[in-house]
Amino acid sequence: MKKLLAMVLTGAMTLSLLAGCGGAKEAADASANTASDSASSSSDSAASASAAIADGVLTVGTNAEFPPFEYVGDDGQPDGFDIALIKAIGEKMGVKVEVQNMEFDSLIASIGNKIDVAIAGMTVTDERKLSVDFSDSYYDALQYVVVPKGSDIKTADDLKGRKIGVQLGTTGMFIAEDEIENSDVSSYNKAVDAVNDLVNGKVDLVIIDKNPALVFAGKYPDDVEALDGSQFGFGVENYAIALPKGDADLLGAINSALGELKKDGTFDRLVSEYIEN
Ligand code: GLN
Repeated sequence: MKKLLAMVLTGAMTLSLLAGCGGAKEAADASANTASDSASSSSDSAASASAAIADGVLTVGTNAEFPPFEYVGDDGQPDGFDIALIKAIGEKMGVKVEVQNMEFDSLIASIGNKIDVAIAGMTVTDERKLSVDFSDSYYDALQYVVVPKGSDIKTADDLKGRKIGVQLGTTGMFIAEDEIENSDVSSYNKAVDAVNDLVNGKVDLVIIDKNPALVFAGKYPDDVEALDGSQFGFGVENYAIALPKGDADLLGAINSALGELKKDGTFDRLVSEYIEN
């Protein structure tokens, strides 16, 4: 049903975004039977009341280019902290989780049509909140600055007028374009390509989130280093799951599943398995 809906809506993506998901919600009451086979979780009733997952499948968009939160595993499928987290959330909700790998910049526009929700190390921003709702935040993040090893780039002033590599549509890009004077910004679909161009000398620095910055910089320990963004005045960001606007049932189900995973120790186990390791 989701696939069909997606086909119908793809051509009218902007329209459906503007209109929100009101139409789909009307079907909620008529089809609230899908999660009935798993009775253990208190969030089941909320899950089954959401039209978005009335078919018992939570379709999740990600961009598997952002280790350790998401990457392509050895079996060719998306893996990582976010993927393990959303699968655990789906289990608590009594729904099947299907992950779709897509460009980061396409995620928000795909929510409510191609995908139900997105988990992608996505920072909560006011601008994004105009298009989507966010779950409770599950992780604190910070932009890092990747520079050539031994670089004299050390303060916010040093960033001005530089060639900056970023990932398209990310908070790193917004900082580079909106907050740094005379920046010359190159946007890449994959953050790792920005780091590759830093190694090749095509950009002066790269602004990306802390954990992927450490992973990508770690691939070139002789050439680049990752600097803590707080030394450039960057503020803390919060990762959350992005949902269709106004789907209170889905939001409630996801938040209560997340809360249960924090209480029962699963969340901390995933942090140490995927992030701290
Ligand atoms: N946290 C950043 C953002 O939300 C980058 C996310 C990503 O590249 N997956 O824009």
